[in-house]
Amino acid sequence: MTTAPEAATAPPGPGHEHAPGPGEIAGDILERTSRADFGRWETQLANTGHCRRPVRLHGRIDAIDLATGETAPVYSTDSEPDGVLLVACGNRREAVCPPCSDVYKRDARQLVRAGLAGGKDIPETVSAHPCVFATFTAPSFGPVHSRRKKGATMLPCRPRRDAHARRCPHGHDISCPHRHADDDPRLGRPLCPDCYDYPAAVLFNARAGDLWRRFTTYLPRHLAALTGRSVKALRSEAAIRYVKVAEYQARGVVHFHAVIRLDAPGDTYQPPLPWLTASLLCQAIKDAAAAVGIATGPEPGHPDIPARMLRFGAQTDTRPIRHSPDLPGTGHALDGQAVANYIAKYATKTLDAPGLPHRRLRSGLDIPALRCSPHYREMITAAWRLGARLALDDPRLRQWAHMLGYGGHFLTKSRRYSVTFGQLRRARSQHRRQHHPGGERDPWGRPLDDTIVLIIRSWEYAGTGHQTPADVELALAAAARAREHDDWAARAA
Ligand SMILES: [Zn+2]
Ligand SMILES: [Zn+2]
Ligand SMILES: [Zn+2]
Repeated sequence: MTTAPEAATAPPGPGHEHAPGPGEIAGDILERTSRADFGRWETQLANTGHCRRPVRLHGRIDAIDLATGETAPVYSTDSEPDGVLLVACGNRREAVCPPCSDVYKRDARQLVRAGLAGGKDIPETVSAHPCVFATFTAPSFGPVHSRRKKGATMLPCRPRRDAHARRCPHGHDISCPHRHADDDPRLGRPLCPDCYDYPAAVLFNARAGDLWRRFTTYLPRHLAALTGRSVKALRSEAAIRYVKVAEYQARGVVHFHAVIRLDAPGDTYQPPLPWLTASLLCQAIKDAAAAVGIATGPEPGHPDIPARMLRFGAQTDTRPIRHSPDLPGTGHALDGQAVANYIAKYATKTLDAPGLPHRRLRSGLDIPALRCSPHYREMITAAWRLGARLALDDPRLRQWAHMLGYGGHFLTKSRRYSVTFGQLRRARSQHRRQHHPGGERDPWGRPLDDTIVLIIRSWEYAGTGHQTPADVELALAAAARAREHDDWAARAA
């Protein structure tokens, strides 16, 4: 294992200790572009999809003929520019690597869409199954600035009432006459921070994943109860499949969006019995979401954990998804494509607000210096404090303090909702191999067969990101050219 040189993912800003001057960068650019292997370097960039912070690997691939023991080299990074192979970082966060995030978003959209309309080996008949888009919010932890609408009309945030009702117990005015624009930084901030239940808000984030798991356990029971069946009878007639994403609301609390579909049991994506309808599923989702709760409270050795009942918000929004325009009588149903786009968007977003730390906090002493909003700083403080008090195997509040307590995944799905990210990735690499002649053959010219030839890969991590600011500039320019070319090709098609 070699040590990683400092990643140069972006040109260092002013004030950077070793910021090279423009002349120095120009010199490095000239040096790179005049090398004989510059074309190969550009090809490598293209192969990573112009990843912004590619992982650099040293290594080789060798083949061993199992019958004779003969070995033959297949590939070595010795012949590559700088002796490294660039591999896409694969980060799904838009803020970290836009190109890789784009790939992930595309995959997420395909995965969701395949479960709604079929494709990718899922039969198109799934589009006729009962299917619902549901949003699970968190309850209120105290009044916050928000956008309120009645139809198309914006309403005041918290209209003034009589002087008595305007004051909270701390003497703060908790009315707000503003009609907030959707980029108003006040949105989501509490009207009185002292009234706001910060411990409950971070505990909700920390346990939201558990709450969801309980919901999925309860849902069959509620669906069975609605139809007068036993859970066992229901399970023999229907299976519940879902995909869900987590989204941060402005107040820094996660909520979930989910596509929930009914199939027949088994792995062939058959429709459930006809009496199972989308409106029954909507009702069962509302009932199950209202019923689940997680109690927190003082524990032996941790007397300071506040006693709270963590629940989803009072109203769970459920809407049937319409899959084809000719499906009659679906009322306010949602369009499947729009739902897929929506879910994919949130699969690549995480908490992203000015001044929030991108990494785990190492010490509580770092918190006062954070330049995020006072509200988020309070959330982080609450998570850090509670983290000291919770048992170690409990939600790792300190570990996830920079995420305001939420340490769960941003996209999860049940088995057999549709395809997996792994299947989509494998299909892509297969496609790439088929378009590279020779990639399907072993060094002795035979079709690849792992019963005849053993392939040994040995890789060593050499660092992340481009090696010089000049390389960063060149890579950004190459990415921009590739985008232009794609746009041009899309227009021409
Ligand atoms: Zn990347
Ligand atoms: Zn307001
Ligand atoms: Zn107050």
